[in-house]
Amino acid sequence: MNRTDFLKTLSLLPLTAQSMNIAEFNSFTANLSSTERMPVLFVGHGSPMNAIENNGFTQTWEDLGKRLPTPKAVLVVSAHWLTRGTHVTAMELPKKINDFGGFPRALFESTYPAKGSPALASEVKEIIKSTNVGLDHDWGLDHGAWSILKKMYPEANIPILQLSIDYYQPASYHYALAKQLSALRDKGVLILGSGNMVHNLRMVAFNRMNEPNFGFDWAREANGLFKKHIADGNHQALFDYEKLGEAVKLAVPTPDHYYPLIYTLALQDKKDDLSFFNDQLQGGSLSMTSVMFG
Ligand code: ZN
Repeated sequence: MNRTDFLKTLSLLPLTAQSMNIAEFNSFTANLSSTERMPVLFVGHGSPMNAIENNGFTQTWEDLGKRLPTPKAVLVVSAHWLTRGTHVTAMELPKKINDFGGFPRALFESTYPAKGSPALASEVKEIIKSTNVGLDHDWGLDHGAWSILKKMYPEANIPILQLSIDYYQPASYHYALAKQLSALRDKGVLILGSGNMVHNLRMVAFNRMNEPNFGFDWAREANGLFKKHIADGNHQALFDYEKLGEAVKLAVPTPDHYYPLIYTLALQDKKDDLSFFNDQLQGGSLSMTSVMFG
């Protein structure tokens, strides 16, 4: 079965989740017309090379771009934008950031000239009440955003924003903050958390990166635990991830690639279906496991 068929045959599990009061936010987003409620994604981004390679993971991203409702904008919470305080990109033309080294020239030279949306950035700032969101004019699109979006929306014709992760705050803070973005799902905004649930770079077996679904026992255990708690809607367990045992400690040595999942979980609705995709381990200590709600 190829990856596209795999995605199409995913079982859809009804879940329960916290209800959301979106009414109070509608006044701020009135300048965006209502749309069908958009799904929410957590995508395991893995190697930056996915941006220019054609493999099972990227084929799934391409397929998602074709079959999801076309968004009016995409708001990405990337593992690669860690800040003090929370910021949203607010420039007209976000630059492509090559935030890595040691990769082939073709990766550096690839382009992704999507526009930003200063208007939507202002909306994001308005609807988040729990903190003063900064309007950012310096960042752009890091590879946590463009490597995936280049495959999902290759024409780069959809405005892209990034929301930073305040790295001085715990998971519960991110969860509460993300909930305030819920109304954007009804305004055609696709919210995408980009990280990797299992992400231990120090333990990667680089000589086995191309071995399909190769994972160390602890990585497989952690991946299974994350999926179980996601399927059970047990968000509390997921933001108390440090209490989930040794396997999860190895899977999340630092929370940068895990926190984007917290944003996605917070935006889950009671009515949403759940599907997992790209549910594969790579190089022993990484997972590409991804989640869609809606
Ligand atoms: Zn990364």
